[in-house]
Amino acid sequence: MRTTYEEMMIMIDKLMTQSTDAEQANYDEALAFSMEALRLVQTIDAKAKECFIYHTIARIYYFKGQFKLALNYAEKALDLVNFVSEDYLKYKIYNGIGVYHYSLGEYVKALSSFFSALAEIKEEEAVYKKDVAGLYLNIANIFYQNQDYEHCLDALGDALKWMVEIDSEHGCYLCYNTYGNTYIEMGDVEQAAFYFNKCLELAVKMKAPQYLASIYNNLSTIAEKKGELRKAIELVEKSLEINKELNREAVIAIDYRRVGIISCEEGEVEKGIDYLGKSLVLSIKLADNSETLITLKALAERCAAAQKWEMAYEYRTQLSELHKETFNAEKSKLLSEMQVRHQLERKKREAELLKTSEERIRLYADKLEESNKNLERFAHVASHDMREPLRMIHSFLKLINEKVKAYNDKDLNEYLGYAIEGANRMDVLIKEVLNLASVQAQEIKMEAVDLNDVLLLSLHNLKTTISESNATITYGVLPVLTGNLSLLTQLFQNLIGNGIKYNKSKQPAINIRVNETEVDYHIEVMDNGIGIPEDDQSRVFEMMTRLNTRTEFEGTGIGLATCKTIVERHNGKIWVTSEVGIGSNFQFFLQK
Ligand code: ADP
Repeated sequence: MRTTYEEMMIMIDKLMTQSTDAEQANYDEALAFSMEALRLVQTIDAKAKECFIYHTIARIYYFKGQFKLALNYAEKALDLVNFVSEDYLKYKIYNGIGVYHYSLGEYVKALSSFFSALAEIKEEEAVYKKDVAGLYLNIANIFYQNQDYEHCLDALGDALKWMVEIDSEHGCYLCYNTYGNTYIEMGDVEQAAFYFNKCLELAVKMKAPQYLASIYNNLSTIAEKKGELRKAIELVEKSLEINKELNREAVIAIDYRRVGIISCEEGEVEKGIDYLGKSLVLSIKLADNSETLITLKALAERCAAAQKWEMAYEYRTQLSELHKETFNAEKSKLLSEMQVRHQLERKKREAELLKTSEERIRLYADKLEESNKNLERFAHVASHDMREPLRMIHSFLKLINEKVKAYNDKDLNEYLGYAIEGANRMDVLIKEVLNLASVQAQEIKMEAVDLNDVLLLSLHNLKTTISESNATITYGVLPVLTGNLSLLTQLFQNLIGNGIKYNKSKQPAINIRVNETEVDYHIEVMDNGIGIPEDDQSRVFEMMTRLNTRTEFEGTGIGLATCKTIVERHNGKIWVTSEVGIGSNFQFFLQK
């Protein structure tokens, strides 16, 4: 049963709902649903839906932390974005691409995507305010990363305006936080402290422990800048406490390092080195090489400063080994990336080459078909029109013949006899050419055909020839196959007729045999006739090829060409094996 377009769309929508539901709990499951929906949507023409599915898959990969894949799928969605009529989805797609570029550190590209996203929505409309606010915040963060603090503050102003308007504490917190960081970079510690304190207020109000931890850290930076190292240590220790509770190991490692470094600066070297050691253990456990490298360096430096030479040497050695290791890992990662890219490029080039050669073949095939059609049309028209004047010649020759009889002129009678015979032969020839042209050109109807019927019909048409020549026709069980009754009858009639005609035996004998293979029938029409020399065996299927003189055997040389066309129009193949003086075996394949 065929699934309709609507049924397919329902199935796809159901899969997408399942995917969205699963997104809350299990990304892999969500991905599996979306991928299945993608497979289905590609079997129908629903580009807008396909675009939406690409966008969803991209988002799931982003949540899984696979930013590159997220970007790949988002770009596929982008290719189809023109099929989407909903502005909001367009915005989502551009915004997604911006976020993925941002996560990959591709800030310029991210920025341009965020601006494209912004162009898709109307700032003033209530439904979009949250999105506009988010977009401005993203843009501000990019300016911050790019150290373009002036533009960053501008964008932050816009973001904050909308965050306040929609009353988003969470959004305001993020804005204040970026304000604080920006002012730190600009060297304005007071302004930074002002915004971080606003963050602190909000974090307490929201009861959001991870925000609280992060803001303690930022405030500790302010304290450090002001030279209030004790306060700075206390603040990081507060952050540490919260993060331990939340079991955020990666952040704990960073807290340990910070508090370790500040403690050393404060003069509490033992405590500092102890903290740094804890940070190191965690980073190694988390297999985070870049964090491990920073901590090892800090440890080596602090130990050296404290004249703990042995420890300093130990950490330096570890540091240089890890450097080497990460360098090699980076190198092989780069190398395999390059190999993959190289292979992809090659595949792309091969595909392009294949496409152009396929196109060229298709072009030639079209041209060939066109010229064949023209030829068939020409043969048909020409032979049809030629019969008309021929009929006239024939009729007048007969009239002349009547008149000439009275003269009783032997020569004249003989000449006229030749002329009439020539006209008759010409008529047969044209009729056969016409028939061949129609076999080539006609639309043939394929149906179940019983070869027993075919044979009986052929024998019926040949009954005079058979009885006059005293021929015997033998055959076994014949199958039913798909073909055209009238053409197959012509085929058998021609072959059996030839078997009887090109035969000098007292009793021409024709035997028909069928062998069944898995895909087709192998049919043989054998005679005990004069045979065909090996060199001529393939030539006999060419049009107007005759091996014998007309005085020996009547014929036009078109019969076997017609047989070949009929077999080929049944997607089969015909050939002959023969031995002169013994007989011929015409064989062909017909598909089941
Ligand atoms: P025609 O109208 O001359 O019979 P065909 O196309 O049927 O034309 O055959 C082409 C030539 O092939 C014939 O002229 C004949 O020389 C040869 N031929 C065809 N069938 C046989 C056969 N069964 N045995 C020997 N020669 C044959």
